[in-house]
Amino acid sequence: MGRRENLMEPKGQEILIRALELNGTGERVRNAMRKVPRHLFVSEDMQSVAYADTPLPIGHDQTISAPHMVAIMCDLLEITEGMTILEIGSGSGYNAAVMAELVGKNGKIYTIERIPELAELARSNLERAGYSNVTVIHDDGSCGLPEHAPYERITVTSAAPEVPQPLREQLSKNGIMVAPVGTRHQNLVIVRKDNEGNISYRTWGEVIFVPLIGKYGF
Ligand code: SAM
Repeated sequence: MGRRENLMEPKGQEILIRALELNGTGERVRNAMRKVPRHLFVSEDMQSVAYADTPLPIGHDQTISAPHMVAIMCDLLEITEGMTILEIGSGSGYNAAVMAELVGKNGKIYTIERIPELAELARSNLERAGYSNVTVIHDDGSCGLPEHAPYERITVTSAAPEVPQPLREQLSKNGIMVAPVGTRHQNLVIVRKDNEGNISYRTWGEVIFVPLIGKYGF
């Protein structure tokens, strides 16, 4: 997947992957996460904890999600090679990189970030780590990205009052979306659209995410 800045096996990566395995993360997702150098997605002062299973600050009151949460969401999305995926909330670009590994060179990731500095951060992190099949867009992701719709998978990495209507519309038939929903108590919701366009909802469990700020968010 193009140029890689640091090919050395990072300290802590293998311990993290083993912990994810014990937590039940699937093999494809573990293999994808093993390939992504998380230390390239966190700041200099966070290098010693880059492979800790915890969210870390990335500036502007936002965080890179904990690896186990990235793993859970990727597993729930059942991502296969060649898919086109929309992510709302680029943050550091790390989750987009994991999904880029899962879709491979014939797949495509679009990721939207509302804070311009973070959109730039995600762009430069992804470039530095060698991911050329990810496009970062600075915009309000609660409206989705109609110009490239429909998406086989949609992942929302901040919590909305309800699953945004534009995202439901932009999910393809047989598509899957995961989205945290709620205010004080959030639930991770799995949205499935069947072959005829009918939508069903399932709740995975309680989660904690930063709010989705925008037209169809808070
Ligand atoms: N996926 C990220 C990563 O791998 O580092 C972590 C995302 S962080 C938990 C949530 C992100 O959602 C923040 O960067 C925040 O600015 C962004 N966000 C919140 N509302 C948004 C919106 N309406 N459109 C796009 N991004 C939004």
